[in-house]
Amino acid sequence: MTPLETLNKIYGYRNFIGLQEPVINRIINGGSALVLMPTGGGKSLCYQIPALCMDGTAVVISPLISLMQDQVSMLKELGIKAAALNSSLSLAESRITERQVLNGEIKLLYLSPEKILSDWFLNILKRLKISLFAIDEAHCISEWGHDFRPEYMQLTALRDQFPDVPVLALTATADEVTRKDIIKNLRMPSAKMFVSSFDRPNITYGVAFKDKEKSQLINFIENKHRGDSGIVYCLSRKRTEDFTELLREHGYNVFVYHAGLDKETRRKNQDIFIKRDGVIMVATNAFGMGIHKPDVRFVIHMDMPKSVEAYYQEAGRAGRDGLPADAMIFYGLKDIVQLRNFIEESTAPAQQKMVEHQKLNALIAYAESSTCRRQMLLNYFGESRAPSCPSCDNCLTPPVTYDATVHMQKFLSCVFRVSGETFSFGAQHIIDILLGKENEKIKKFHHDKLSTYGIGKDLPENDWKAVSRAAVITGMVKMDAEHSTLSLTEAAWPVLKSGQKVSLRKFTKPPSKKELKKQKTAQTVQMPPADNNLFEKLRKFRRMLADKENVPSYVVFSDKTLIEMAARKPKTLQEFAEISGVGEFKLKKYGEIFLKEITSN
Ligand code: ADP
Ligand code: ZN
Repeated sequence: MTPLETLNKIYGYRNFIGLQEPVINRIINGGSALVLMPTGGGKSLCYQIPALCMDGTAVVISPLISLMQDQVSMLKELGIKAAALNSSLSLAESRITERQVLNGEIKLLYLSPEKILSDWFLNILKRLKISLFAIDEAHCISEWGHDFRPEYMQLTALRDQFPDVPVLALTATADEVTRKDIIKNLRMPSAKMFVSSFDRPNITYGVAFKDKEKSQLINFIENKHRGDSGIVYCLSRKRTEDFTELLREHGYNVFVYHAGLDKETRRKNQDIFIKRDGVIMVATNAFGMGIHKPDVRFVIHMDMPKSVEAYYQEAGRAGRDGLPADAMIFYGLKDIVQLRNFIEESTAPAQQKMVEHQKLNALIAYAESSTCRRQMLLNYFGESRAPSCPSCDNCLTPPVTYDATVHMQKFLSCVFRVSGETFSFGAQHIIDILLGKENEKIKKFHHDKLSTYGIGKDLPENDWKAVSRAAVITGMVKMDAEHSTLSLTEAAWPVLKSGQKVSLRKFTKPPSKKELKKQKTAQTVQMPPADNNLFEKLRKFRRMLADKENVPSYVVFSDKTLIEMAARKPKTLQEFAEISGVGEFKLKKYGEIFLKEITSN
């Protein structure tokens, strides 16, 4: 079969997407390649289709056992002979698989890198006809990558043993240095590089300042994502527990994940998240590596992540299936100060601290920006071309900016006036003075006698909050992490004395429930209510079938495929086969029963 026939018949997809076709042709013709594609870019097919079109067994190296199992069950559902060998198997199970492999019955063999280690296993590989090596998460081989795994270095030896087998290295994150490392360590100097855009057009980016974080979170999920799968990231274990509690009280199906939980609980929670529909996972950044769940509809950060790289990777777990998804950050001054302290207090050398500060500042700039978020993210990763932005908060509702120089000066001089005192004061007190409030604290310290008392009545309180935030974020004012007290730094003088310009965005009310709902219909797949009912019914049916085989729902059919079924309502097997995602094997296995389910509506 040709690659296109394989795509149509086995996978039930009509066309290749992105760079899939040239990559596949390169491998089939015996060449090697390094492929950089974003999450959801369709990397798996780049090696699966050559594996099916070529003689012999394709060996896929993957760092995570859960991921391997997931892929193997997906392939089996397509009627493809696939197997995995890793440390989770019993000896007896391994022996059975090895025999199948040696008999040439397996088209795709997934291995963990440490498997390659043993001479014994290398001998098995030597007896095989290997069509290609696919190295998933290839950045793990680089010490410069953000996730170096020493066991990946074994792959260098593998290359020396099989110099003539084509290699396909795949990753979703690799800067220039990491790319060079991959090519060097995998001994593939003649590899062709395929780099696709890292834009994720189906993800809507948004950022909001934390004001009332609990209601902000609940409102966001309630209005835009009730019943959807999603991840909520927090900085600390304590906060993951708190938000889990909160969401549970609001009736959500929610689980928690952090490094403090025992292994079994973590495994169980992760398993539920992957297999079920509509589960929310509240987690620290310990969660997510290797989660290939395609139908995650939102990723919300309740605290500032530590770099744009980390953020893009975590947010990128949303919408792998190409359907609309949300990536939202709620951030506050406290988390920024806390992250800055982490960096300061670490034992890292000064140079590294500086780099970490820069990385954090780049993300803060993203959060505070008034321009297109998508563009900022892509620029950060070195893509200069301006993407059209179907949706980010700043493009949907462009913010209004104003010259805030005088206000900043007022704020700074007020901080200056109170910071000489033995008692120290936080941002809210400074704002109260500027607004001329008459509270006890002001009276007690005679702050109504200050020359800055009441000079800020021309600006609403919310805008003053933004001024105070900008003062801390730009480093003009230092905030003590423990008591949140403020003091001026050197950086304040250019604004205070020489009138260096400050521009800020005007505070706007967060979107109302009604507006949020409107945004939802603007971005999710438009489905008439009748179709939606059928979709929900098919989802339940899919769940039942998946449960029977103990596989995730999406292994049976993706949401995308179910949505198409609900819209087209096929009446014959012929019509059913035309739906994207219905290949020959699934047509046989599921055609009749799904038709029955659809027509009995
Ligand atoms: P990656 O590994 O790059 O994150 P995947 O290989 O998991 O991406 O693919 C993402 C999603 O896109 C999967 O649901 C996959 O089935 C689907 N997909 C991949 N290639 C095609 C295609 N040519 N046509 C339609 N859907 C595709
Ligand atoms: Zn935008």
